[in-house]
Amino acid sequence: MHKKVILITGASRGIGREIAKTLAKEGNRVIANYNQSEEKAIQLQNELKEFGYEIDIFKCDVSKREEVKKMIDFVIKKYGKIDVLVNNAGIDQVKLFTDISDDDWNNIIQNNLYSVFCCTQETIKYMLSEKSGCVINISSIFGRIGGACEVHYSVSKAGIDGMTKALAKEFGLSNIRINSIAPGIIDTDMNQNVNYEEMKAEIPLGKMGKTMDIAKCVKWLIEDEYTTGQVIEINGGWNM
Ligand code: NAP
Repeated sequence: MHKKVILITGASRGIGREIAKTLAKEGNRVIANYNQSEEKAIQLQNELKEFGYEIDIFKCDVSKREEVKKMIDFVIKKYGKIDVLVNNAGIDQVKLFTDISDDDWNNIIQNNLYSVFCCTQETIKYMLSEKSGCVINISSIFGRIGGACEVHYSVSKAGIDGMTKALAKEFGLSNIRINSIAPGIIDTDMNQNVNYEEMKAEIPLGKMGKTMDIAKCVKWLIEDEYTTGQVIEINGGWNM
């Protein structure tokens, strides 16, 4: 893989962190975004440095346009372009549908869906001038099959998959590929309270996924040249 400038949102923990590590170790220029977990982001940067890989870390709440603009400005000023955007940052909330308040709804949509709209819109203009680009959105199995007690989360993730397809059609002739990865259940902080034993029974491969399962697919999507507008499901066969 040629060296690329790759911005990953939500890279301080979980799936985003693994993606950052994997792509940095391939020799890419990685910019790892974080919001609240500064210590973890610094630790990631130092860990990679020990192995000889330099990455940038950048604090930004991706649900806020002004902060996103500052982050993109930083990348453009430093590297002159963004080859790959990985929209990974996201939050979850488990609540009965009847208990979801307007604030809950808006918070999930703002953090999970608006953030993807905003980061992609602020980035894609630079991809257009390069006539090349790759956007990878991390959605979820729940955007495909729906998650009980996670209606707002499911809506936000289905919205991402819709955006992926619409953008792929709009920007295909500009040589910009946009795809989603829809993970099943992956072993991260997000699933701390999940009843794993109960869920396992629904998964044909009988186990949770690892963050590396998603990172490998991200790497493949960056290298590939003929895949766009797809939602790639990585879920141990949970949805088929
Ligand atoms: P995680 O371990 O909870 O990590 C979430 C990451 O997102 C953190 O690095 C967090 O950064 C960042 N983040 C959240 N809100 C942000 C904001 N407003 N601005 C910037 N960064 C923000 O979650 P994960 O399991 O790795 O999930 C990553 C993505 O995969 C999410 O979009 C999630 O919906 C999706 N997903 C996960 C699973 C799963 O089973 N784990 C399944 C399907 C889809 P800070 O801590 O620095 O704030």
